[in-house]
Amino acid sequence: MSKAPLKSYINGEWVLPATSTETVTAINPATEEICAIVAVCGHDDVDKAVQAARAAFDGYAAMPLDDRIALVEKLIAIFERRYDEMVTAISTEMGAPYDLSFNSQAECGPGHLRATVTAARDMEWERKVGADGLIVHEPIGVCVLITPWNWPVNQLATKIGPALVAGCTMILKPSEIAPLSAQLFAEFIDEAGFPKGVFNMVHGTGPAIGNALTSHPEVDMISFTGSTRAGIQIAKSAADTVKRVSQELGGKSANIVFADADLEAAVRRGVLHCFENAGQSCNAPTRMLVEETVYDEAVAIATKVAAAAKLGDPMEKGPHFGPVVSKAHFEKIQGLIQIGIDEGAQLIAGGTGRADGFNRGYYVKPTVFAGVHNKMAIAQEEVFGPVLVMIPFKDEADAVAIANDSPYGLAAYVQTGDLQRARRVARLMRAGGVSVNGAGQDYMAPFGGYKQSGNGREYGEFGLRDFLEVKVINGFY
Ligand code: NAD
Repeated sequence: MSKAPLKSYINGEWVLPATSTETVTAINPATEEICAIVAVCGHDDVDKAVQAARAAFDGYAAMPLDDRIALVEKLIAIFERRYDEMVTAISTEMGAPYDLSFNSQAECGPGHLRATVTAARDMEWERKVGADGLIVHEPIGVCVLITPWNWPVNQLATKIGPALVAGCTMILKPSEIAPLSAQLFAEFIDEAGFPKGVFNMVHGTGPAIGNALTSHPEVDMISFTGSTRAGIQIAKSAADTVKRVSQELGGKSANIVFADADLEAAVRRGVLHCFENAGQSCNAPTRMLVEETVYDEAVAIATKVAAAAKLGDPMEKGPHFGPVVSKAHFEKIQGLIQIGIDEGAQLIAGGTGRADGFNRGYYVKPTVFAGVHNKMAIAQEEVFGPVLVMIPFKDEADAVAIANDSPYGLAAYVQTGDLQRARRVARLMRAGGVSVNGAGQDYMAPFGGYKQSGNGREYGEFGLRDFLEVKVINGFY
């Protein structure tokens, strides 16, 4: 194995850490082979990156919006030209099956960048207020962007895109578990020709450089996507210097299936959506709440769908599911499945152990529990794997109460043949996004969570506003 350690990108240069000699190995979850070695930065490298971003800020913030947009459009063109490299990087580092990487995971890159450009063109950047005042929007400053591994390009694009368009400068710390897509994204940015210091990337882990980044006095904002656990630490670390902290955190999203839904289609869609990306999506519909009159029928459909779910090689095309991201994550999921069994939930598909037919790779059996009560740990904790729980409910009020009985509030789903009911229930769900009967999310629509699922909003204009300050100049006219 002779992979060169991945370099960080500071002030327009590809660099190895100045003093730190720590490395982390990233593992391909399908083959269990090393796919990258990450050279972990030290506090000195973090400081250099922050100083570079600070030095670049005034000039970049003053660049006309049209010129910033032109650079982002160049970035989109480079991304599109090198699209296949990104698809391979994602499937290699985190195991998303080829079709998912090609159609969704990588597509989020140009998709979000384009949406941000559209939002910037449509936005009212300045407007008159009162007799003589002017409201203006300005970039917030130096931003630290911290991203997870599960939809790596989605999270890179939803942070880097609006920060670049807004006129901010930035330091990205991508997930050490999925560094290949971030490396490639940084190469695209380098090729696009942004001024030196506008974009910087430091590789590393939370314990090594998390605090150095999130407490740095020259940093104005943290945009973080990841676990609620890390989000709490980051918010505390940023508090002493009163930074803006925008957080996209965990979820345990409810999917309410009413008896008047097209049951076969609704249950099938719900099971497959929960298993997509091996269950490693923050907004996965992991709690299926089913009206009790059709509960047994729904359980039978879910059993059939889960039993037919195929697992396979992420590098191959086809409608299969992939492995979960790492050995540690595989083991965490095994522990949670065992907890579900121990607390008396009825296992109707899957279970513990490596999926049949695989002698390597972190393949979790697609798992469904029936007879689940919402107070059980398996219904409350984010598993972040292909594990669905099915919970019966009596009526609409009961369904809403169970759906909202969670520390999280990221996404929610409603399946019904009655649109009036869908609209009523959607308004009662304490979640940042509700989807009715399988509707998808547009790149321009806001994405984010209530409660412990976070506090920011990404995508489109809402994402752009996250990176802007608002100023009023009274007596302007
Ligand atoms: P994680 O919190 O372990 O790590 C996320 C990132 O934070 C990584 O880059 C990691 O190195 C860094 N980090 C960890 N501790 C840190 C600290 N103290 N200071 C600074 N940085 C730190 O999360 P993960 O395992 O990579 O991702 C999975 C989690 O992300 C799940 O909980 C999932 O729900 C959540 N997620 C949320 C959204 C959303 O939009 N709400 C989207 C994707 C993932």
